[in-house]
Amino acid sequence: MYNPPMFSFRVEATSSQNAARAGELQTPHGTIQTPVFMPVGTRAALRAMTPDQVLATGSQIVLSNTYHLALQPGADIVQRLGGLHQFMNMPLPILTDSGGFQVFSLPKTVTEEGVTFKWEKNGAPFLMTPETSISIQEQLGADIIMAFDECVPYPCPRDLAERSLERTHRWERRCLEAKTRDDQWLFGIVQGSTYEDLRQQSARALTAMDFPGYAIGGLSVGEGLEVMDAVLSWCAHLLPEHKPRYLMGVGFAEDLWCGVGHGIDMFDCVIPTRHARGGLLYTFQGRMRVNNKRFRRDRLPPDTTCPCYTCQNFSRAYLHHLYTADEVTGTTLCCIHNITFLQELMKVIRQAVLDDRFEEAKADFFRTYGTSYGPNKREAVGLGHEDDLRTSRSDGKQDSGRGRNDKRRR
Ligand SMILES: [Zn+2]
Repeated sequence: MYNPPMFSFRVEATSSQNAARAGELQTPHGTIQTPVFMPVGTRAALRAMTPDQVLATGSQIVLSNTYHLALQPGADIVQRLGGLHQFMNMPLPILTDSGGFQVFSLPKTVTEEGVTFKWEKNGAPFLMTPETSISIQEQLGADIIMAFDECVPYPCPRDLAERSLERTHRWERRCLEAKTRDDQWLFGIVQGSTYEDLRQQSARALTAMDFPGYAIGGLSVGEGLEVMDAVLSWCAHLLPEHKPRYLMGVGFAEDLWCGVGHGIDMFDCVIPTRHARGGLLYTFQGRMRVNNKRFRRDRLPPDTTCPCYTCQNFSRAYLHHLYTADEVTGTTLCCIHNITFLQELMKVIRQAVLDDRFEEAKADFFRTYGTSYGPNKREAVGLGHEDDLRTSRSDGKQDSGRGRNDKRRR
């Protein structure tokens, strides 16, 4: 009997203007059209949203965090309850990170074997190694799991970046060797901080290890779009063309266009739900703070062109009221909208690749959306209520998305 492969990736179209591509990623829990944005459900739940609401946003895959789930309720409990999909009743494909990013944000000791830290819950010391990370991720049971890598600070001195990179490659090889389940795909992670030769060295070393997919880590840590653009230009094209590429921690519109332009297929970010919780909404006409007094009597939906449940049924005035009254439904409705916005944006970007008009579509988008970069920031933002999103990216205290000490996301 023919057993179709559980996993596959195929590039459907590539841009003639840059490295952008549209593809299809098949997983045991469904097929994903790429480029794709993956919303983050840190503790096996998307902020204030039920799985049905997540599905209605058009999301195709969600991310969960290994560190948080190992801490609470514990990977063994998730496994005993049927794995992450069954535990959180999520029919979509799931990706888990390795836990490394959170562990490296805690006080820790790093040795060749792994990282020793204390659990936030009870202060008990724990040695997280490539092997334990893979074992926890196998217990959780996501479709795509990530290699355990060393996350260096930004900015990072050259000698540290160099030493860390060699160790990261040894750890990633150990992850490959430790993996036992054949219904999970393990992605390698390119590191190398902001050093061109190190990034290239990393891309080549990992390509030789033959992972089924590759992530680019160590970005979206406060380096800014120009540096991100440079790093991607150094290493993305060195990764195998027929395998998916994932840019970790990226979810701003500017960064998504930039990433896709360099041939990235997958993105994740906790910021859209964090912003939603704070009343900051993304629309194709720009960003708006719905908790601003000017919306008190506004009958319009957040975005008149948005197909989401929130925009189809509620006014800015109502959302403003929910924020003022501190009703949790306000968070739910704003999360639904922001996640839907990103899914709609990814559709626009994907279609632009299929139609081979990436640059034109990008210019069209930013004509109304504006940008948080550059001198024309204020004028460019249609609704004019935008704070500097670059700084608010690090407001890690509001949402537990990345853990207590998280000021950054790789
Ligand atoms: Zn909407």
